Amino acid sequence: MIGLREVLVAPRKIADLTAHLQPGQERMLAAGSMRHHPERTIWHVNSTEHGGGVAEMLRPMVGYSRALGLPVRWLVLDAPPEFFEITKRIDNGISGVCGDGGPLGYAEHEVYQSVLARAAAVLEEHVSPGDQVFLHDPQTAGLVGYVRRAGAVPVWRAHNGADEPNQHTGVAWEFLRAYLRDAHALVFTLPHFAPAWHKSLASAVIPPFIDPASPKNQPMSERVALSVLARCDLIDAEPSAPPVFTRFDGTTATAELRPTVVREGRPPSPDSPLVLQVSRWDAVKDMPGVMLGFAEHVAPRSDATLMLVGPEVTGVADDPEAAQVFDDCVKMWRALDMETRSRIQLVCLPMADPDVNAAVVNALQRHATVIVQKSLSEGFGLTATEAMWKAKPLVTSAVGGLRFQVPDLSVGTALTDPLDLRAFGNAVTRYLADPANSRTVGERARARVAEQFLPDTHLLAELALLRDLSE
Ligand code: UDP
Repeated sequence: MIGLREVLVAPRKIADLTAHLQPGQERMLAAGSMRHHPERTIWHVNSTEHGGGVAEMLRPMVGYSRALGLPVRWLVLDAPPEFFEITKRIDNGISGVCGDGGPLGYAEHEVYQSVLARAAAVLEEHVSPGDQVFLHDPQTAGLVGYVRRAGAVPVWRAHNGADEPNQHTGVAWEFLRAYLRDAHALVFTLPHFAPAWHKSLASAVIPPFIDPASPKNQPMSERVALSVLARCDLIDAEPSAPPVFTRFDGTTATAELRPTVVREGRPPSPDSPLVLQVSRWDAVKDMPGVMLGFAEHVAPRSDATLMLVGPEVTGVADDPEAAQVFDDCVKMWRALDMETRSRIQLVCLPMADPDVNAAVVNALQRHATVIVQKSLSEGFGLTATEAMWKAKPLVTSAVGGLRFQVPDLSVGTALTDPLDLRAFGNAVTRYLADPANSRTVGERARARVAEQFLPDTHLLAELALLRDLSE
């Protein structure tokens, strides 16, 4: 099953977006789209259709672009596990993290190249001369040369990065460098994520966005959120409203799924303050650190409950570390005393229906009292932007994009030392104890997202880059 397959996305209702935009932005979007050459297809190629931040962005990006009349299409790479083991290693390296510590040498180049050579055969059937192709993350860097040979314009985009270069970033970038030489441009999430040698190529900085109309971020009342959580057995209550949400395709559906939950006793009551982290089960998200910080510094000083929420452990094809991380969390949870254990839940949400999964995440984020994202490294934490959009007080580590997303205390707390559990606990406890301040911070956070991290800003930046490249 090596190859590329197209993901079809219906046009989205543009009014769902424009309802949230600053004055004048709708006109800018229409004007920007009109200037694009109608016969130059813009392709996006990544390695997963569901799960993870890139897929989260591509679906609305393709949907809104199509609604604006832009010829935008999306291809997903299917590859065997040994390929994803290697690309995971590279991705960890780019983030400055050791990962599984395995090599990135000659044998790995061979596997990487042979998989992408087979995928390229499919690519060439789709891409025409003059098309513009965004290749996302290490999984697709080896396609740059093939895109160029097809007469199209390859732009490679890195979604991760490290604050400081180290031996891991060095090895990972060295692996990618030869493949990227022919790219017409490189795109980074933050300027300092670029490797030193990028200056020989054109580059741009474009931060990611969230979609305000997606099942994950669409408006949802507290009553509906509680009903969704009750139906999923995540809150101990009777549903009082239909747990209904709007899917990507505009139809309505019921947000109900059967999560796998590790907990002691019954789900928490609706009145119990909720501290929430939603992440993939990946070591860099530091779920165990959140658990320990909560157990030692929040649980003894509040009546809050903690939920650590991630996708089903087998849900993301290119995430082989997930089972290990989840296992480590369960072991740590079992070692806690009974009283603390009863305040902490580990939740795995099925991904079979991504819209339902997203609606449940929406309900959790809406219901949460404080949201945390205690990553040890982060390209740009979409979960943080999602929390800010829901006007929640947010505690993050000041790493990677999170520093830029939460630049000061007016919009959340970004902790300088991600390993300082006491500081983490203090920040969470402060928000729990001061609802008025939490509300003010949350509202300012939401305004920041409206100004900078919605699809309009993003699409205009991409179109401007493509225009520059074609001039
Ligand atoms: N996510 C989800 N369900 C889950 C876990 C995560 O929908 O069970 C989503 C989360 O809401 C966010 C994305 O996956 O939109 C993760 O993006 P982020 O940038 O935070 O981290 P990444 O996974 O890209 O490292």
